[in-house]
Amino acid sequence: MIAGRELGKTRLPLWAAGFVVLICAAILGLSGWREWETRNTELKNAEIDVANLAQSLVQHADDTFELVDTVLIGLVHRLELDGTGPDTIAKLQAYLPTRKSSDRIRGIFVYDETGRWLATTEPVDFSKLNNSDRGYFQRHLHSPDPGTLIGRPVKSRAGGQWIITASRRINHPDGSFAGVVLLTIDVDYFVKFYERFDVGPNGSVSLLNNDGIMLARSRDDGGVFIGRDLSNAPLFREWESRPAAAVYYFKSPLDSVQRLSYYQRSSRYPLMVLASKSQDDVLAPWRRATAVRLTVVLGLVLLIAVIGFYLVRQLLQRQRTAQALVANEAHFRLLAEHSSDMVTRIGLDNRLLYVSPSCVRMIGWSPDELLGTSAVAGIHAEDMERVEQAIVALKNGEAEEARFVYRQRQREKGEIWVEAALHVTRASDSGEIDGVVAVVRDMTEQKDLQDKLISLALTDGLTGLANRRAFDERLADEWARARRDGAQLSLLLIDVDHFKAFNDHYGHLAGDGCLRALGRILSTHARRPADLAARYGGEEFAVLLPNTGADGCAEVGEEIRGALRDLAMLHAQSLPSRLVTVSLGAATGFPSQTTTDCSALVAAADRALYAAKDSGRDRLVISGQVVAWPAKSA
Ligand code: GH3
Ligand code: MG
Ligand code: MG
Repeated sequence: MIAGRELGKTRLPLWAAGFVVLICAAILGLSGWREWETRNTELKNAEIDVANLAQSLVQHADDTFELVDTVLIGLVHRLELDGTGPDTIAKLQAYLPTRKSSDRIRGIFVYDETGRWLATTEPVDFSKLNNSDRGYFQRHLHSPDPGTLIGRPVKSRAGGQWIITASRRINHPDGSFAGVVLLTIDVDYFVKFYERFDVGPNGSVSLLNNDGIMLARSRDDGGVFIGRDLSNAPLFREWESRPAAAVYYFKSPLDSVQRLSYYQRSSRYPLMVLASKSQDDVLAPWRRATAVRLTVVLGLVLLIAVIGFYLVRQLLQRQRTAQALVANEAHFRLLAEHSSDMVTRIGLDNRLLYVSPSCVRMIGWSPDELLGTSAVAGIHAEDMERVEQAIVALKNGEAEEARFVYRQRQREKGEIWVEAALHVTRASDSGEIDGVVAVVRDMTEQKDLQDKLISLALTDGLTGLANRRAFDERLADEWARARRDGAQLSLLLIDVDHFKAFNDHYGHLAGDGCLRALGRILSTHARRPADLAARYGGEEFAVLLPNTGADGCAEVGEEIRGALRDLAMLHAQSLPSRLVTVSLGAATGFPSQTTTDCSALVAAADRALYAAKDSGRDRLVISGQVVAWPAKSA
């Protein structure tokens, strides 16, 4: 049983399920990994884009401020050399407009040490204007630094637009503060320039100074971002420790858009350019493509999972069936192998496909010796035809089962009686007959017993002759046979004379011995195979003689009488012989010539017997004629 369970059960469904899960996981994992890689590549490309852009734009800003610087340095140098006398200023006023040729420079302004306007490119009346309140003025006033100061963007007093200021301090020959030269650049100039570059719908390019002040920004509706102080933004924290240029991911504090950006600091000016793209913009095409690809992949995985599920279920079902089969097989093998009957399976070619081990005990040959041999080998020649016919009928589908008794060769005993129960088997798939199963049982003992019973039922216990029942059956059979064959049939009825007296005189046991002796004489004289000596009842006997005429019958009767006399059993009460004698009534019938049945023959013999008794006993009387009972005899 345990071996059977192990046989039927395999790990195949588990492996198959694992394999399907692995395939699905691998496809999903690979797709996810590939998508992630694509996403990262997209971001990398976007990083390269913004890096290139930031580097170019820093170069552009550098060029712009270098131009501005050149102008400022030239003016400061000249003013420090020539002073700020009216002549110089007048010349300057005439010279300044020629420096404004570039579209980058919005205006040029010169202030004295009190902030008063000395000269400008702008066509305004500046006699009363004073710029000492401006941040850059205060810075130059209080700092001896001769370098260019790039200030916060401010709204122009001259034109009202956003401007970036670049200024330098003018010193007196003694080094004291003499005023400021200021140059303004239109923020709009940068904005317009930056907007030429495509950084996506939510991207931006910003120009900031190192203090975190926004100088210019593309996509700046109405200049709302200009001048904003972003020094608190994460980018400007730890500003000193940051590299001069780097990729930088951040959520914009201005419009809360998640951006990937590249910042590049100027090596010459306290400036930086921050070029950024919205991460969403960058990833949008990837997201769309990924959604399509993942949908296809998920569909595929789902399909594999469904097919896998059905496959595994199928495997499990098959396994359960196989297990049940194995269990059944084990049961049946157990039944067959432990049965005292011999179980065999016979193929369509009459060869033995299986023989249970009990064959050794039953017929003396082992299964190995029998397998493949003919199933009808060893069957007694007289039974063979019957058995073969039954098997043919089964194989033709004329009957489902058959049962018969026959004689079978046995290795040691020579022959045994067996009973076989045969049943057809059908192929499980097609339903076609594919053989016969036979259960064979040793019937020898039963057969012997049966024979004994039959013989007991037909034999007289005292004399061993046929009894009355056997006699009646044989009489009817022989009567019918004689009628068929047109033959004669003779009957002798024999009755012991004065037997009651014998019993009374010698005792019953002696009476029995006498009857046995008479029985032996009768069986000796019923010589032919068809002759039958029977005990008809009490001390009356009958001898049936087929194919025997009246003469032959009389002859046998006289022989019997003579044999008894020769035996010379004393019977003191039987006079005059003082020996045991019998009276015989003989009758001969010609059944084909009469319409009566066999009882007429018995009646005729009986009448003859009575006649023998009446006429003195110890003699044979032959009935003249067999006539229908109860007609009077002649
Ligand atoms: P008869 O036939 O000569 O007229 O005289 P009988 O004495 O033989 O007459 P009856 O037929 O009346 O007697 C038959 C006797 O046979 C009666 C019975 O005691 C005896 N008998 C019948 N069967 C047996 C038996 O099996 N054994 C013995 N010992 N006696 C039997
Ligand atoms: Mg009698
Ligand atoms: Mg008698």
